[in-house]
Amino acid sequence: MHDLAIVGAGPAGMAAALAVAEAGFSVVVVDEQARAGGQIFRRPPEAWGERHGTYRPYTWARDLIERFEDHPGIKTHFRSTVFGVLRDRDRSEHAVFDVAVSTPVGGQRITSRRLLLATGAYDMPVAFPGWTLPGVMTAGAVQSLLKSQKVLAGKRIVLVGSHPIQLILAGQLLDAGAEIVEIALARDMPGLVEMVRSLPAIPGHVSIFSEGLRALAKIARHRVPISRRTVVSEAVSKDNMLDVRLSQVDRDWKKTGINHTVEADVLVLGYGFTPSTELARQVGCDLIWNSVGGGWTVSHDTGFQSSAPDVFVAGEPTGVAGAERAWAEGHMAGLAIAASLGATIPPVALAQARRRLTGSARFAGVMQAMFAPRRAALAELSRQEETVICRCETIRNGKIEKTLQNNPFIQSASAVKLECRSGMGPCQGRYCEATVAARVAEVRKASIEASGYFNAHLPVKPVPLQDYRDIGGE
Ligand SMILES: Cc1cc2nc3c(=O)[nH]c(=O)nc-3n(C[C@H](O)[C@H](O)[C@H](O)COP(=O)(O)OP(=O)(O)OC[C@H]3O[C@@H](n4cnc5c(N)ncnc54)[C@H](O)[C@@H]3O)c2cc1C
Repeated sequence: MHDLAIVGAGPAGMAAALAVAEAGFSVVVVDEQARAGGQIFRRPPEAWGERHGTYRPYTWARDLIERFEDHPGIKTHFRSTVFGVLRDRDRSEHAVFDVAVSTPVGGQRITSRRLLLATGAYDMPVAFPGWTLPGVMTAGAVQSLLKSQKVLAGKRIVLVGSHPIQLILAGQLLDAGAEIVEIALARDMPGLVEMVRSLPAIPGHVSIFSEGLRALAKIARHRVPISRRTVVSEAVSKDNMLDVRLSQVDRDWKKTGINHTVEADVLVLGYGFTPSTELARQVGCDLIWNSVGGGWTVSHDTGFQSSAPDVFVAGEPTGVAGAERAWAEGHMAGLAIAASLGATIPPVALAQARRRLTGSARFAGVMQAMFAPRRAALAELSRQEETVICRCETIRNGKIEKTLQNNPFIQSASAVKLECRSGMGPCQGRYCEATVAARVAEVRKASIEASGYFNAHLPVKPVPLQDYRDIGGE
């Protein structure tokens, strides 16, 4: 039995693991990736003989990864997926968790006294005609290929979206030899008022801003055209290439009707990130709607304990706010977990952790406000009858609208799922939930928040059936 099981070895999971292990408790960490670092610090395969990747502009990453990997009190399972968590309240006054894990050699049960969900985020899905075509990829996927495999997703690339990751990624792709045909940003460049409002975010984050400026300089040097107030509205496959149709939009990202088409072999979407909350849902944590934080986030107290007893949360599941914030939250959650296990936390350590949280919140708040997605406008891109909404079950927009028309009692995204299977495939709705909820909101003249979220069941991710047999139990 471990004192703490952590799902996710990103900045949040690593920081929490260290705080708990340094207090003398046993920690086990499970991650789907091959090495620690999470989405942001993806590293080349171990077999290449390089311990580290490039972590710029996060100067603390190298030290965090080394201390995490070298700590004798932290056990790790990589290339392993947590597909559900079972809780047995009868065995002690606290919950005892049975964490169901799919490993490369079969299913395993890990038992622990506390559970921390540091599961990160995934690229925000945006449905439009052609979004399921080969060659249409998300920013995170293209960047992961580059960072961990040193592979360029394509040669002629067009980037669309609203998230600053697109500019950083453009710089990285140019360095790797790609031709960027165009960068289409949904928003305008920040005006003077916005720039003044963002000043409080700068102290302590100069290196992050410099990284952005470096990327912009590179884009200018390569004379890459940047279109403002432009969104993608369609992709069509033609002779192994994509015709990407871009549309002009107003301040609210509503189409104003002027279009142009660019030809590329890869279209990269980067409208933001969505918190990974499927395990939190399955284990019974309460969620809160936070549009600028990426959508549904896990509710928690000041020590990052969720509404489910002994279940803690840190990093992007509490709202997408960047690596620095994830690190600060993980550290604070780790101190709170150690305290709940009986450790005495020196007040000075707590005060320092609180200061880090405050500093990172300033930066995150400015970034979230500046790059907030216009959800209704993005959902509008999927209005054509034939547009695929649920790619796992191939459910098209026409079917969802008909379901809502024929069933006036349906008021929630979950009810749409039960009626027409949108969200019932292997991704368990991660890629259609936002669009389905937006459609319910629009038809029922309610908010997206009121449309709710899909419930999550074990397995929250697809795993071989044999892994169920391996974990045994009733
Ligand atoms: C693909 C991608 C690329 C990104 N690139 C950037 C970037 O360049 N710059 C930037 O500022 N931000 C980037 N972000 C945002 C980034 O997620 C955060 O800034 C930061 O990494 C958050 O840290 P975290 O610890 O909360 O989560 P993460 O770093 O995302 O770590 C979460 C970990 O949990 C693991 N995990 C999740 N579910 C399970 C499960 N069921 N079983 C086992 N393991 C699981 C994942 O494999 C992952 O390693 C990116 C996000 C994504 C999704």
